[in-house]
Amino acid sequence: MYIDCHIHIALMGERTKEYRDRILMGDFFPLQEVLKKYKDKNILYLRDGGDRYGISLKARELGKEFGMVLKTPVYAFSKKGKYGNFLGIPISGMDDFNREFKNLLKLKPDHFKLIISGIVDFNYPDRVTEELNFAFDEIYYMIQKAKDKNLRVMVHANSSKAVQAAVKAGADTVEHGYFISKEELYLMAENDVIWVPTVSPLGNLIEKEDKKFKNQLENIRRIYLKHIENIKEAFELGIKVTVGSDAGTYGVDHADGFFNEIRHLKNTGLDEAKIMDKVFKNGIRLFL
Ligand SMILES: [Zn+2]
Repeated sequence: MYIDCHIHIALMGERTKEYRDRILMGDFFPLQEVLKKYKDKNILYLRDGGDRYGISLKARELGKEFGMVLKTPVYAFSKKGKYGNFLGIPISGMDDFNREFKNLLKLKPDHFKLIISGIVDFNYPDRVTEELNFAFDEIYYMIQKAKDKNLRVMVHANSSKAVQAAVKAGADTVEHGYFISKEELYLMAENDVIWVPTVSPLGNLIEKEDKKFKNQLENIRRIYLKHIENIKEAFELGIKVTVGSDAGTYGVDHADGFFNEIRHLKNTGLDEAKIMDKVFKNGIRLFL
C-alpha cells in the first residue's frame, strides 16, 4: 500500500476546467474515476492541498466509499493578491484570518494548509516568484491557532526565508522547499519536520523534454539537480522526507505521480527499496 502526501484532486493539468466544471455541475463520475485510478495502483492514503470549490471535501466523502483515506485542509490560506489564491481563501491580515479560520473549522479540515511563498520561476535558474508573503509574526500566529485546534500544519514554502519562517513557526511539514541551503536542512532536521519535496512537476518536464517549456528547460534542469542534491543531503541528515507528487498540476498525472516521484528520488543515489521504506514510514505519520 502506498501513500501520496501532496496531491490536488481538484486539478487535472491542462484539462482542469472541463474536469472541474463537470464536478461543479454535480457529476461526480470524473472524481470517482480519479479515486479509482489511485485505488487500482494501491495508493490508498492521499493528502490533498485544498481547493476553493469544495471538491477535495467531496473527494474525502467518496474516498471512504472506495475504502481510501483522503485528507484535506478543505481550502488553503494565502496572502491576498499573491500566489495560491486559486487553492482557497486569500487573506489580507489577521482579522481576515480569524474570521475565515472560524468558518473553516465548521467544515472539519483534516489539516491546515498555509501558502507563504511563491513558486519556482522557470525563467531563472535560482528564483522563486515571491520569497515570503507574510510577516513572521503572522505566520506564527496562524500556525499556532491551527495547532490549538489539534490540526497538523502543511506549509507551502520555497526560498530560504520561507522555509526558515515555516519551521520556526512550528510547521509540521514543509511542502516543496525549493531553493534552500544547508541552514534550512539543519533546521528541518533539528525540528523533526517532515519534508515533502515534490520533485515531479519539474522532473517530469525534463524527462519529457516538454516543448511548452523549451526555452526554460535548462533552468528547470539546474533547479531540479540542486533540489535532488538537497534531498540527498536530507536523507543523510535523517530528515523525514516523504512522497508528495503534486499530482493534478501540469505534467503530473494522478496516481502515476507517486511512481514518478519515486523514480526522481532515486536520482539521490538511494536504492528503491530504501526510498520506499522511508517514504512510507514518514508518510504514514501524517495519517495517524
Ligand atoms: Zn501543490
